[in-house]
Amino acid sequence: MLIVMKKGATDESVQGVVNAAEKRGYTARPIPGGDRVSIGILYNKGSVDAGHFMGLEGVKEVIPVTKPYKLVSREFQNENTVVKVGNVMFGDGSIPVIAGPCAIESEEQAITIAKAVQKAGAAMFRGGAFKPRTSPYDFQGLGKQGLEILAKVREKTGMPVATEVMDIENFDLVEEYADVIQIGTRNMQNFSLLKRAGKSKKPVILKRGMSAMLQEWLMAAEYIMEEGNSQVILCERGIRTFVRHSRNTLDLSVVPAVKKESHLPIILDPSHAAGVRDQVTPLTCASVAVGADGLMVEVHHKPDEAMSDGAQSLYPAQFEKLMKMVNSIHAITGACCENN
Ligand code: PEP
Ligand code: MN
Repeated sequence: MLIVMKKGATDESVQGVVNAAEKRGYTARPIPGGDRVSIGILYNKGSVDAGHFMGLEGVKEVIPVTKPYKLVSREFQNENTVVKVGNVMFGDGSIPVIAGPCAIESEEQAITIAKAVQKAGAAMFRGGAFKPRTSPYDFQGLGKQGLEILAKVREKTGMPVATEVMDIENFDLVEEYADVIQIGTRNMQNFSLLKRAGKSKKPVILKRGMSAMLQEWLMAAEYIMEEGNSQVILCERGIRTFVRHSRNTLDLSVVPAVKKESHLPIILDPSHAAGVRDQVTPLTCASVAVGADGLMVEVHHKPDEAMSDGAQSLYPAQFEKLMKMVNSIHAITGACCENN
């Protein structure tokens, strides 16, 4: 942190800031400049609260230098983290696709969709057993039965499975069945849930809160890592904006921003951003081009009958086409993004 003093600040006020910093256990070093003095706060272990210094006499501005997050940051670890889920890798330059329905509705539904997406080239299956629904009157998921169906999908196809955990109460149960545990947009700042995920041995997909800034999202990941789980995959799923033409706005620019700040892999979920089927393919293509480390796409064999998110679910034939586009675009842009 750098504390910039006002022009003409007295030696006493500079000393006052130094004393205030040292009282809090920091090392403060005045750096004389051309027409003003700055004071560097050095060797602090965590982030320093700017509020401690803002109101002190002679202080013009306080510029944070050290990032508030540590474990997730590139400053801490320069090389990319590769998260391994079964034999699927996120962050190694490949583009694994997680596909499946929004919710597990029945064994027949799950197996039918799983076989179709696997045939098209998906690496992993997804499906919610516990569903976070806006309305309490909507389908809430099959719960444990849904998890058991996911286990059957894994057994029959060999694909690892991703599913959401909504609360601490069901964490142990979801953890037992999932190969990767998803924390949804609505829970991105559920700190006790994040801490519990941090104690898990399973990798975690951390979706971005629908109104979260990059720093808040990375701080949420920091909660998980701080508890000891370094296997975190970030997932951009669209943020709430003023537009009406899509359910959310897929924030493509967050991908290079994340890669600059963090070593964690980032995947994109164009389905929940779009909310409508016809936007999913173009947004998926853009996600690959911008450097995604993976994708999450909702697919349903009978979207008109889906219990949730049917309008944004691709038909298997559309997904098959999409996979060809994903691979073609990745063949061109994958190497470029890697070199950036
Ligand atoms: C989902 O993946 O089905 C889901 C509910 O996602 P989100 O948390 O992004 O809304
Ligand atoms: Mn969904």
